[in-house]
Amino acid sequence: MTSPPDVAIIGAGIVGCALASFLAEAGASVLLVERDAVAAGASGRNSGIVQHPMDPVLLSLFTETVAHYRDLAAHGFELPAEPQGLLLVAEEEQALARELATIRSGYPELAAEPLAPGEPARLEPALAPDLPGVRLHTGYAVPPAGATAAFAARALAAGARLRIGATAALAPGGLAVGGEHVPAGAVVVAAGPWTSELIDPTGRWRPIAPRWGVNVEVRLAEPPRHAFEEVGIDEVVAQAGDAPPLFSLVTAGGASSLGSTFLPAQPDAAALAPVLHAHGARFVPALADTPIASVRACARPLSSDGRPLLGRAPGHDGVYVASGHGPWGISLGPASARVVADLVLGREPALSRAFDPARFGSIA
Ligand SMILES: Cc1cc2nc3c(=O)[nH]c(=O)nc-3n(C[C@H](O)[C@H](O)[C@H](O)COP(=O)(O)OP(=O)(O)OC[C@H]3O[C@@H](n4cnc5c(N)ncnc54)[C@H](O)[C@@H]3O)c2cc1C
Repeated sequence: MTSPPDVAIIGAGIVGCALASFLAEAGASVLLVERDAVAAGASGRNSGIVQHPMDPVLLSLFTETVAHYRDLAAHGFELPAEPQGLLLVAEEEQALARELATIRSGYPELAAEPLAPGEPARLEPALAPDLPGVRLHTGYAVPPAGATAAFAARALAAGARLRIGATAALAPGGLAVGGEHVPAGAVVVAAGPWTSELIDPTGRWRPIAPRWGVNVEVRLAEPPRHAFEEVGIDEVVAQAGDAPPLFSLVTAGGASSLGSTFLPAQPDAAALAPVLHAHGARFVPALADTPIASVRACARPLSSDGRPLLGRAPGHDGVYVASGHGPWGISLGPASARVVADLVLGREPALSRAFDPARFGSIA
């Protein structure tokens, strides 16, 4: 490090890596500090689906993110040309009917198509024969770490510096990194579930909490084309305590990611893997005969109202927050990063108040 960076970023997940790209390409000198590895957190261990967030406030972030992903081909990430489609499934038809009504009234662009019991299995033979479903026009399956690795490569190509294996904390006028003071013109905290504690080490300001997910990777003999998701994610995400696992299966490059849990504390992933496997086999019977290839766990950065925190950090000068995407960070993170990059660069975007970090109160 020869001269102080204009901007220091904490966290090399999808948000931090995209931010580093946008800022460096705009001519800022950028230092990205990561304590572990690029995509070491949820950005490398997610289910790998880029999908409509089903919240009108988040929709423009999703649309813009898809456009950013189209620009990553030169850095090794290809978004499929068309969404593969998302099949919502449930063991009870009533739950699907409620979901269908909500989606049809709120999101006509998803072209929700009801499927009577047995129809989903005709579309996707991997599914249990009598399940009902709803088909949605969304869902690009991608390798879980693909976009984050590509943004990291793009940031480096644009001149950003990456410091791996270094734990950062806020310090007056910059960062403290392993006992060393690193001055910076501005700091962005993009540290996923660990963001709140970096902004307020006293523990009083805690708008972002971890929500742990365990995923199992399998290689099915006949992998499906659609992504599958059991209805009920909103209810499960809203539960403060331990929630039951919710089935999802996303296939990219022959590997299927079978999920997932939504737990407030770090779980014993090895113990939960057989539970997920058995739950998944109710929807995809071939899972019962398909060995688990690997198991991964990580925490979603879930905000108290389910929407990200993008903007100035309360209680600090020159510090910004970009985090809190919960279950949707791969689908929204790059557009959020663009919004925060513009703010840091003084371009003053029309920031939605729905994302203002100050909505969760100030820090004394
Ligand atoms: C099981 C599971 C499945 C998911 N599936 C999907 C999906 O299919 N589609 C989708 O859109 N989203 C999905 N998500 C959500 C998505 O993965 C997250 O919202 C997103 O990856 C968060 O990105 P981030 O950059 O904010 O944080 P993270 O990826 O958590 O990155 C933060 C980084 O900050 C680093 N860090 C933290 N503290 C410090 C420090 N003090 N110093 C230095 N570095 C630090 C961490 O090591 C980490 O690398 C899923 C999440 C989980 C858990």
